[in-house]
Amino acid sequence: MVTTYTIASGKGGTGKTTLSVNLGTALASFGKETYILDADMGMANLGIVLGLENVPVTLHEVLAGKAHVSDIIYDGPEGVKVVPSGISLQGFQDANPERLRDVMKEIINHCEILIIDAPAGISRDGVIPLAIADEVILVINPELSSMVDALKTKILTELIGGKVKGFILNRATFENTEVSVKKIREVLDLDLIGVVPEDPNVRRSAAYRQPIIIRYPDSPASVEIKRIAARLAGME
Ligand code: ADP
Ligand code: MG
Repeated sequence: MVTTYTIASGKGGTGKTTLSVNLGTALASFGKETYILDADMGMANLGIVLGLENVPVTLHEVLAGKAHVSDIIYDGPEGVKVVPSGISLQGFQDANPERLRDVMKEIINHCEILIIDAPAGISRDGVIPLAIADEVILVINPELSSMVDALKTKILTELIGGKVKGFILNRATFENTEVSVKKIREVLDLDLIGVVPEDPNVRRSAAYRQPIIIRYPDSPASVEIKRIAARLAGME
C-alpha cells in the first residue's frame, strides 16, 4: 500500500523542505521505496538542498506537457528518488499545477511512500498538494504567527476534503517564551508527531548539499527526524 504525505505549513520558512528531504532520506534508509516531490514550483528549493538544481528536465516541463514523469526521477541519497521542480521563473509560468494529481498517480505506481514538499501560502499551487495527499503533516515553528498560519492550513485542508495527520514542531529551543506544544495541540486540535530542535547543523548540511541525517547523523535534529521517520514507517 502507498502512503502519500504532504509537508505543509501555511507560513514560509518553517522547515518543510528540510523535513521533506530528511524524512524521505530516512524512510529510504529503512528500506522503504520512497519518492520526494517538490511541489513548491515557484520557490523550488528541494533540488538546491540536494545539489540537483542543474538537472536538465524537471516537474515544470512535465506540468507544461513537454516531458514525461519517467524523465524527471533522479537519485538521491540512500536510494531515495527525487522529483525536483525547476528554478526558472519562465518554467514556473508555463507549468500547470492542475496536472500535479496525474503526476502523483504515476509516481505512486513505483513507490511505498511519497512525500510532497508543499509551497507556503494558499494560492492554487499551494492548495492542490493539500487535497491530493492521503495525509497532510503540518510543520510549525514555536511562534504565534506560525501556529495561526498552520491553523488556517488545517481548516483549508479539511474544507477541500483533505486529512491532516498531525504536526511537527520544528526549530524548538525550549525557551519559555516559545509557544508550547500543549498550546498548539489545544488550538489546532491535532496530534503531535514529533519535536525537532533548533540545530545549527541543519544549515551546515545544506551548504554541503546533503541531508543533515547523512552529514551529521548524531546531531540532535537528525536523531529526532529519524525517530519521526520510524514512526511514519510503522517501526515504532
Ligand atoms: P521551508 O521549506 O518551509 O520554506 P526550509 O526547510 O527551507 O523551510 O527551512 C528554512 C530555513 O530554516 C533554512 O535556512 C533551514 O536551514 C532552516 N532550518 C530548518 N529547520 C531547522 C532546524 N531544525 N534548526 C535550524 N535551522 C533550521
Ligand atoms: Mg521549501
